[in-house]
Amino acid sequence: MRAEGAATKRLAVLGATGSVGEQTLAVAAEFPERFRVTALAAGRQIGKLAQQVRRFRPELVSVADAERARDLAASLGADAPRIVWGEQGLEAVATHPADLVVAALVGAVGLAPTLAAIRAGRDVALANKEVLVMAGALVLREARARGVRLLPVDSEHSAIFQVLAGQRAEDLQRIVLTASGGPFRSWPAERIAAASVEQALAHPNWTMGPKITIDSATLMNKGLEVIEARWLFDVGPERVDVVVHPQSVVHSLVEMRDGSWLAQLGVPDMRVPIAVALAHPERLPLLAGDGIERLDLARVARLDFEAPDPARFPCLALAYAALASDEVAPAVLNAANEEAVAAFLAGRIPFPAIADTNAAVLAAHRAGGALRDLRDVLDADAWARARAGEWLAGRAA
Ligand code: MG
Repeated sequence: MRAEGAATKRLAVLGATGSVGEQTLAVAAEFPERFRVTALAAGRQIGKLAQQVRRFRPELVSVADAERARDLAASLGADAPRIVWGEQGLEAVATHPADLVVAALVGAVGLAPTLAAIRAGRDVALANKEVLVMAGALVLREARARGVRLLPVDSEHSAIFQVLAGQRAEDLQRIVLTASGGPFRSWPAERIAAASVEQALAHPNWTMGPKITIDSATLMNKGLEVIEARWLFDVGPERVDVVVHPQSVVHSLVEMRDGSWLAQLGVPDMRVPIAVALAHPERLPLLAGDGIERLDLARVARLDFEAPDPARFPCLALAYAALASDEVAPAVLNAANEEAVAAFLAGRIPFPAIADTNAAVLAAHRAGGALRDLRDVLDADAWARARAGEWLAGRAA
Protein backbone atom coordinates (compact mmCIF):
# COMPACT_ATOMS: atom_id res chain seq x y z
CA MET A 1 0.00 0.00 0.00
CA ARG A 2 1.11 3.48 -0.83
CA ALA A 3 1.03 5.83 2.16
CA GLU A 4 3.04 8.79 0.96
CA GLY A 5 3.87 10.44 -2.29
CA ALA A 6 0.61 9.84 -4.14
CA ALA A 7 0.74 11.97 -7.27
CA THR A 8 -1.23 15.18 -7.20
CA LYS A 9 -4.56 14.75 -8.95
CA ARG A 10 -5.60 17.62 -11.20
CA LEU A 11 -9.29 18.48 -10.84
CA ALA A 12 -11.62 20.36 -13.16
CA VAL A 13 -14.89 21.24 -11.43
CA LEU A 14 -18.11 21.90 -13.35
CA GLY A 15 -20.58 23.64 -11.04
CA ALA A 16 -17.99 24.98 -8.60
CA THR A 17 -20.30 27.31 -6.67
CA GLY A 18 -23.13 24.79 -6.19
CA SER A 19 -23.54 22.60 -3.14
CA VAL A 20 -21.45 19.64 -4.39
CA GLY A 21 -18.92 21.95 -6.08
CA GLU A 22 -18.29 23.87 -2.86
CA GLN A 23 -17.96 20.67 -0.85
CA THR A 24 -15.60 19.23 -3.48
CA LEU A 25 -13.38 22.30 -3.11
CA ALA A 26 -13.58 22.00 0.68
CA VAL A 27 -12.22 18.44 0.43
CA ALA A 28 -9.54 19.52 -2.06
CA ALA A 29 -8.52 22.38 0.24
CA GLU A 30 -8.07 19.98 3.13
CA PHE A 31 -5.61 17.85 1.11
CA PRO A 32 -3.61 20.36 -0.94
CA GLU A 33 -0.77 17.86 -1.45
CA ARG A 34 -3.18 15.48 -3.21
CA PHE A 35 -5.33 17.77 -5.32
CA ARG A 36 -4.69 20.70 -7.62
CA VAL A 37 -7.63 22.56 -9.13
CA THR A 38 -6.87 23.40 -12.76
CA ALA A 39 -10.25 24.62 -14.01
CA LEU A 40 -13.54 25.85 -12.55
CA ALA A 41 -16.94 26.44 -14.14
CA ALA A 42 -19.75 28.30 -12.43
CA GLY A 43 -22.77 30.28 -13.58
CA ARG A 44 -23.80 33.54 -12.00
CA GLN A 45 -22.36 33.52 -8.48
CA ILE A 46 -19.39 35.67 -9.40
CA GLY A 47 -18.51 36.79 -5.86
CA LYS A 48 -18.21 33.23 -4.61
CA LEU A 49 -16.32 32.16 -7.74
CA ALA A 50 -13.82 35.03 -7.35
CA GLN A 51 -13.00 33.81 -3.84
CA GLN A 52 -12.49 30.28 -5.16
CA VAL A 53 -10.21 31.54 -7.92
CA ARG A 54 -8.07 33.47 -5.41
CA ARG A 55 -7.82 30.42 -3.22
CA PHE A 56 -7.21 27.65 -5.80
CA ARG A 57 -5.55 29.57 -8.65
CA PRO A 58 -7.04 27.57 -11.56
CA GLU A 59 -5.69 28.12 -15.07
CA LEU A 60 -9.14 28.39 -16.64
CA VAL A 61 -12.52 29.63 -15.39
CA SER A 62 -15.92 29.62 -17.08
CA VAL A 63 -19.03 31.66 -16.22
CA ALA A 64 -22.57 31.95 -17.61
CA ASP A 65 -22.09 34.79 -20.11
CA ALA A 66 -19.87 37.61 -21.37
CA GLU A 67 -21.23 40.08 -18.83
CA ARG A 68 -20.31 37.81 -15.91
CA ALA A 69 -16.92 37.21 -17.51
CA ARG A 70 -16.30 40.98 -17.44
CA ASP A 71 -17.51 41.18 -13.82
CA LEU A 72 -15.20 38.37 -12.79
CA ALA A 73 -12.23 39.83 -14.65
CA ALA A 74 -12.85 43.22 -13.00
CA SER A 75 -13.16 41.63 -9.59
CA LEU A 76 -9.92 39.64 -9.94
CA GLY A 77 -7.86 42.32 -11.68
CA ALA A 78 -4.28 41.22 -12.28
CA ASP A 79 -5.04 37.84 -10.60
CA ALA A 80 -7.53 36.84 -13.30
CA PRO A 81 -6.85 33.52 -15.09
CA ARG A 82 -8.17 32.84 -18.59
CA ILE A 83 -11.94 33.43 -18.46
CA VAL A 84 -14.43 31.87 -20.88
CA TRP A 85 -18.23 31.65 -20.87
CA GLY A 86 -21.39 29.94 -22.04
CA GLU A 87 -21.72 26.42 -23.41
CA GLN A 88 -18.30 26.64 -25.04
CA GLY A 89 -16.85 27.75 -21.72
CA LEU A 90 -18.29 24.68 -19.99
CA GLU A 91 -16.79 22.43 -22.66
CA ALA A 92 -13.43 24.16 -22.35
CA VAL A 93 -13.38 23.46 -18.61
CA ALA A 94 -14.60 19.88 -19.18
CA THR A 95 -11.72 19.17 -21.57
CA HIS A 96 -9.00 21.24 -19.86
CA PRO A 97 -6.01 19.07 -18.83
CA ALA A 98 -7.10 17.27 -15.64
CA ASP A 99 -7.02 13.78 -14.15
CA LEU A 100 -10.61 13.95 -12.97
CA VAL A 101 -13.55 16.10 -14.04
CA VAL A 102 -16.05 16.66 -11.23
CA ALA A 103 -19.44 16.94 -12.95
CA ALA A 104 -21.46 18.87 -10.37
CA LEU A 105 -23.74 20.99 -12.49
CA VAL A 106 -27.44 20.65 -11.77
CA GLY A 107 -29.84 19.54 -14.48
CA ALA A 108 -29.73 19.09 -18.23
CA VAL A 109 -27.09 21.80 -18.73
CA GLY A 110 -24.43 19.37 -17.49
CA LEU A 111 -24.97 16.75 -20.19
CA ALA A 112 -23.00 18.22 -23.10
CA PRO A 113 -19.91 19.20 -21.07
CA THR A 114 -19.84 15.83 -19.29
CA LEU A 115 -20.00 14.02 -22.63
CA ALA A 116 -17.21 16.29 -23.87
CA ALA A 117 -15.08 15.29 -20.87
CA ILE A 118 -15.72 11.59 -21.56
CA ARG A 119 -14.92 12.02 -25.26
CA ALA A 120 -11.67 13.72 -24.24
CA GLY A 121 -10.84 10.61 -22.21
CA ARG A 122 -11.23 12.21 -18.78
CA ASP A 123 -12.36 10.18 -15.79
CA VAL A 124 -15.51 11.73 -14.35
CA ALA A 125 -16.75 12.04 -10.76
CA LEU A 126 -20.44 12.22 -11.47
CA ALA A 127 -22.73 14.22 -9.19
CA ASN A 128 -24.89 15.58 -12.02
CA LYS A 129 -27.37 12.69 -12.08
CA GLU A 130 -29.30 14.08 -15.04
CA VAL A 131 -26.37 13.08 -17.26
CA LEU A 132 -27.23 9.40 -16.77
CA VAL A 133 -30.95 9.99 -16.42
CA MET A 134 -31.12 11.74 -19.79
CA ALA A 135 -28.55 9.83 -21.77
CA GLY A 136 -27.49 6.76 -19.79
CA ALA A 137 -27.20 4.41 -22.76
CA LEU A 138 -25.17 6.92 -24.77
CA VAL A 139 -22.91 8.02 -21.90
CA LEU A 140 -22.08 4.43 -20.93
CA ARG A 141 -21.33 3.52 -24.56
CA GLU A 142 -18.94 6.46 -24.88
CA ALA A 143 -17.28 5.82 -21.51
CA ARG A 144 -16.70 2.14 -22.33
CA ALA A 145 -15.34 2.93 -25.77
CA ARG A 146 -12.73 5.27 -24.26
CA GLY A 147 -11.94 3.32 -21.09
CA VAL A 148 -13.19 6.25 -19.03
CA ARG A 149 -14.09 5.64 -15.41
CA LEU A 150 -17.37 7.02 -14.07
CA LEU A 151 -17.14 7.48 -10.30
CA PRO A 152 -20.52 8.09 -8.64
CA VAL A 153 -20.82 11.00 -6.21
CA ASP A 154 -24.51 10.57 -5.45
CA SER A 155 -24.44 9.08 -1.93
CA GLU A 156 -26.59 6.05 -2.78
CA HIS A 157 -24.57 5.15 -5.86
CA SER A 158 -21.33 5.75 -4.03
CA ALA A 159 -22.58 3.25 -1.44
CA ILE A 160 -23.36 0.65 -4.13
CA PHE A 161 -20.01 1.35 -5.83
CA GLN A 162 -18.22 0.80 -2.52
CA VAL A 163 -19.98 -2.44 -1.57
CA LEU A 164 -19.65 -3.94 -5.04
CA ALA A 165 -15.89 -3.38 -5.20
CA GLY A 166 -14.31 -6.81 -5.64
CA GLN A 167 -17.67 -8.56 -6.25
CA ARG A 168 -18.51 -10.37 -9.48
CA ALA A 169 -21.40 -8.92 -11.50
CA GLU A 170 -23.10 -12.34 -11.72
CA ASP A 171 -23.25 -12.61 -7.92
CA LEU A 172 -25.41 -9.50 -7.57
CA GLN A 173 -29.11 -10.25 -7.05
CA ARG A 174 -30.45 -6.70 -6.75
CA ILE A 175 -29.69 -3.17 -5.68
CA VAL A 176 -31.73 -1.46 -2.97
CA LEU A 177 -31.51 2.32 -2.85
CA THR A 178 -32.42 3.96 0.43
CA ALA A 179 -34.58 7.09 0.50
CA SER A 180 -34.93 9.38 3.50
CA GLY A 181 -38.56 9.89 2.54
CA GLY A 182 -38.05 13.66 2.56
CA PRO A 183 -39.86 16.21 4.72
CA PHE A 184 -43.34 14.82 3.91
CA ARG A 185 -42.68 11.16 4.66
CA SER A 186 -45.22 10.98 7.48
CA TRP A 187 -47.61 13.68 6.21
CA PRO A 188 -51.13 12.77 5.09
CA ALA A 189 -51.98 13.50 1.45
CA GLU A 190 -54.19 16.55 2.27
CA ARG A 191 -51.36 18.21 4.14
CA ILE A 192 -48.85 17.46 1.35
CA ALA A 193 -51.29 19.03 -1.12
CA ALA A 194 -51.03 22.34 0.73
CA ALA A 195 -47.26 22.22 1.41
CA SER A 196 -45.36 25.49 1.00
CA VAL A 197 -42.06 25.94 -0.81
CA GLU A 198 -40.39 26.54 2.53
CA GLN A 199 -41.74 23.27 3.95
CA ALA A 200 -40.63 21.34 0.87
CA LEU A 201 -37.14 22.84 1.15
CA ALA A 202 -36.74 21.72 4.79
CA HIS A 203 -34.98 18.39 4.20
CA PRO A 204 -34.62 16.41 7.44
CA ASN A 205 -31.13 14.93 6.86
CA TRP A 206 -29.19 16.26 3.88
CA THR A 207 -27.96 19.72 2.94
CA MET A 208 -28.39 20.03 -0.82
CA GLY A 209 -29.36 22.54 -3.50
CA PRO A 210 -33.03 23.60 -3.93
CA LYS A 211 -33.82 21.50 -7.04
CA ILE A 212 -32.70 18.20 -5.54
CA THR A 213 -34.30 19.05 -2.20
CA ILE A 214 -37.69 19.46 -3.89
CA ASP A 215 -37.02 16.22 -5.78
CA SER A 216 -36.42 14.52 -2.43
CA ALA A 217 -39.79 15.78 -1.18
CA THR A 218 -41.61 14.31 -4.22
CA LEU A 219 -39.39 11.17 -4.31
CA MET A 220 -38.65 12.09 -7.93
CA ASN A 221 -35.04 12.22 -6.81
CA LYS A 222 -35.20 8.53 -5.91
CA GLY A 223 -36.83 7.78 -9.24
CA LEU A 224 -34.02 9.58 -11.04
CA GLU A 225 -31.57 7.58 -8.92
CA VAL A 226 -33.22 4.31 -10.00
CA ILE A 227 -32.57 5.34 -13.62
CA GLU A 228 -29.01 6.39 -12.70
CA ALA A 229 -28.36 3.02 -11.00
CA ARG A 230 -29.78 1.10 -13.95
CA TRP A 231 -27.06 2.57 -16.19
CA LEU A 232 -24.20 2.96 -13.75
CA PHE A 233 -24.34 -0.67 -12.60
CA ASP A 234 -25.79 -2.14 -15.82
CA VAL A 235 -28.77 -3.87 -14.18
CA GLY A 236 -32.35 -4.07 -15.39
CA PRO A 237 -34.85 -1.82 -13.57
CA GLU A 238 -36.57 -4.92 -12.14
CA ARG A 239 -33.40 -5.44 -10.10
CA VAL A 240 -33.35 -1.92 -8.60
CA ASP A 241 -35.59 -1.38 -5.57
CA VAL A 242 -36.19 1.47 -3.16
CA VAL A 243 -36.73 1.36 0.57
CA VAL A 244 -37.49 4.35 2.77
CA HIS A 245 -34.99 4.70 5.60
CA PRO A 246 -35.62 7.91 7.56
CA GLN A 247 -32.32 7.98 9.49
CA SER A 248 -30.19 8.19 6.29
CA VAL A 249 -27.45 6.14 7.94
CA VAL A 250 -27.55 3.18 5.54
CA HIS A 251 -26.73 4.87 2.24
CA SER A 252 -27.83 1.88 0.13
CA LEU A 253 -27.56 -1.90 0.02
CA VAL A 254 -27.19 -4.84 -2.29
CA GLU A 255 -28.59 -8.33 -2.04
CA MET A 256 -26.21 -11.01 -3.31
CA ARG A 257 -27.36 -14.27 -4.86
CA ASP A 258 -26.43 -16.28 -1.75
CA GLY A 259 -28.86 -14.19 0.35
CA SER A 260 -26.17 -11.98 1.88
CA TRP A 261 -26.78 -8.24 2.11
CA LEU A 262 -23.98 -5.70 1.91
CA ALA A 263 -24.54 -2.12 2.99
CA GLN A 264 -22.53 1.06 3.37
CA LEU A 265 -23.21 3.16 6.46
CA GLY A 266 -22.08 6.55 7.70
CA VAL A 267 -23.29 9.95 8.80
CA PRO A 268 -25.15 11.79 6.03
CA ASP A 269 -22.40 14.12 4.83
CA MET A 270 -21.79 14.63 1.10
CA ARG A 271 -18.08 15.17 1.69
CA VAL A 272 -17.71 11.41 2.23
CA PRO A 273 -19.00 10.23 -1.19
CA ILE A 274 -17.18 13.19 -2.78
CA ALA A 275 -13.93 12.09 -1.12
CA VAL A 276 -14.48 8.46 -2.21
CA ALA A 277 -14.73 9.61 -5.82
CA LEU A 278 -11.86 12.12 -5.64
CA ALA A 279 -9.39 9.74 -3.98
CA HIS A 280 -10.39 6.47 -5.66
CA PRO A 281 -8.97 3.85 -5.21
CA GLU A 282 -7.57 5.27 -1.98
CA ARG A 283 -9.44 6.78 0.96
CA LEU A 284 -8.86 10.13 2.57
CA PRO A 285 -8.42 10.42 6.35
CA LEU A 286 -11.48 12.64 6.74
CA LEU A 287 -11.98 11.66 10.38
CA ALA A 288 -8.59 13.18 11.22
CA GLY A 289 -9.70 16.55 9.88
CA ASP A 290 -12.50 18.71 11.14
CA GLY A 291 -16.16 18.53 10.42
CA ILE A 292 -16.88 14.87 9.63
CA GLU A 293 -18.86 13.43 12.48
CA ARG A 294 -18.20 9.81 13.45
CA LEU A 295 -21.13 7.45 13.24
CA ASP A 296 -22.20 6.46 16.77
CA LEU A 297 -24.44 3.43 16.27
CA ALA A 298 -25.46 3.25 19.93
CA ARG A 299 -26.66 6.83 19.72
CA VAL A 300 -28.49 6.20 16.42
CA ALA A 301 -29.98 3.22 18.35
CA ARG A 302 -32.35 2.08 15.60
CA LEU A 303 -32.54 1.90 11.84
CA ASP A 304 -36.06 1.96 10.38
CA PHE A 305 -37.13 0.81 6.94
CA GLU A 306 -40.50 1.08 5.22
CA ALA A 307 -41.91 0.68 1.74
CA PRO A 308 -42.43 3.91 -0.24
CA ASP A 309 -46.09 4.94 -0.56
CA PRO A 310 -46.98 5.14 -4.27
CA ALA A 311 -50.23 7.02 -3.59
CA ARG A 312 -48.65 9.98 -1.81
CA PHE A 313 -45.43 9.90 -3.87
CA PRO A 314 -46.41 9.01 -7.47
CA CYS A 315 -43.15 10.32 -8.98
CA LEU A 316 -41.21 7.18 -8.08
CA ALA A 317 -43.39 4.95 -10.30
CA LEU A 318 -43.00 7.43 -13.17
CA ALA A 319 -39.28 6.65 -13.26
CA TYR A 320 -39.96 2.94 -13.75
CA ALA A 321 -42.58 3.79 -16.37
CA ALA A 322 -40.01 5.89 -18.24
CA LEU A 323 -37.44 3.08 -18.14
CA ALA A 324 -40.07 0.67 -19.48
CA SER A 325 -40.94 3.04 -22.34
CA ASP A 326 -37.84 3.75 -24.46
CA GLU A 327 -34.32 5.17 -24.20
CA VAL A 328 -35.39 8.82 -24.47
CA ALA A 329 -38.39 8.68 -22.08
CA PRO A 330 -36.20 9.30 -19.00
CA ALA A 331 -35.00 12.54 -20.66
CA VAL A 332 -38.65 13.50 -21.22
CA LEU A 333 -39.50 12.84 -17.58
CA ASN A 334 -36.43 14.72 -16.37
CA ALA A 335 -37.18 17.80 -18.48
CA ALA A 336 -40.84 17.89 -17.42
CA ASN A 337 -39.74 17.62 -13.81
CA GLU A 338 -37.22 20.45 -14.11
CA GLU A 339 -39.95 22.71 -15.49
CA ALA A 340 -42.45 21.64 -12.84
CA VAL A 341 -40.02 22.09 -9.96
CA ALA A 342 -39.08 25.56 -11.23
CA ALA A 343 -42.78 26.46 -11.38
CA PHE A 344 -43.30 25.18 -7.84
CA LEU A 345 -40.26 27.06 -6.51
CA ALA A 346 -41.60 30.22 -8.19
CA GLY A 347 -44.88 29.76 -6.36
CA ARG A 348 -46.83 29.14 -9.57
CA ILE A 349 -48.16 25.64 -8.81
CA PRO A 350 -49.00 23.62 -5.70
CA PHE A 351 -46.79 20.73 -4.66
CA PRO A 352 -48.88 17.84 -6.12
CA ALA A 353 -48.90 19.56 -9.52
CA ILE A 354 -45.22 18.62 -9.90
CA ALA A 355 -46.16 14.94 -10.14
CA ASP A 356 -49.22 15.78 -12.27
CA THR A 357 -47.06 17.68 -14.77
CA ASN A 358 -44.53 14.87 -14.95
CA ALA A 359 -47.23 12.24 -15.47
CA ALA A 360 -49.02 14.29 -18.14
CA VAL A 361 -45.87 14.95 -20.17
CA LEU A 362 -44.65 11.35 -19.91
CA ALA A 363 -48.09 10.09 -20.97
CA ALA A 364 -47.94 12.36 -24.04
CA HIS A 365 -44.56 10.90 -25.06
CA ARG A 366 -44.85 8.43 -27.92
CA ALA A 367 -42.55 5.50 -27.22
CA GLY A 368 -40.25 4.19 -29.91
CA GLY A 369 -37.58 6.87 -29.80
CA ALA A 370 -33.96 5.84 -30.23
CA LEU A 371 -31.00 7.39 -28.46
CA ARG A 372 -28.26 7.58 -31.07
CA ASP A 373 -26.60 10.85 -30.14
CA LEU A 374 -26.85 13.97 -28.02
CA ARG A 375 -29.23 15.46 -30.59
CA ASP A 376 -31.92 12.85 -29.79
CA VAL A 377 -31.67 13.65 -26.09
CA LEU A 378 -31.78 17.40 -26.61
CA ASP A 379 -34.78 17.05 -28.94
CA ALA A 380 -36.65 14.97 -26.36
CA ASP A 381 -35.68 17.48 -23.68
CA ALA A 382 -36.92 20.45 -25.71
CA TRP A 383 -40.16 18.69 -26.65
CA ALA A 384 -40.86 17.82 -23.01
CA ARG A 385 -40.14 21.36 -21.79
CA ALA A 386 -42.51 22.82 -24.37
CA ARG A 387 -45.18 20.26 -23.46
CA ALA A 388 -44.69 20.95 -19.73
CA GLY A 389 -44.92 24.68 -20.40
CA GLU A 390 -48.23 24.23 -22.22
CA TRP A 391 -49.55 22.01 -19.47
CA LEU A 392 -48.50 24.45 -16.74
CA ALA A 393 -50.01 27.37 -18.65
CA GLY A 394 -53.26 25.47 -19.14
CA ARG A 395 -53.32 24.73 -15.44
CA ALA A 396 -52.93 28.41 -14.55
CA ALA A 397 -55.67 29.49 -16.99
MG1 MG B 1 -28.76 10.73 -3.68
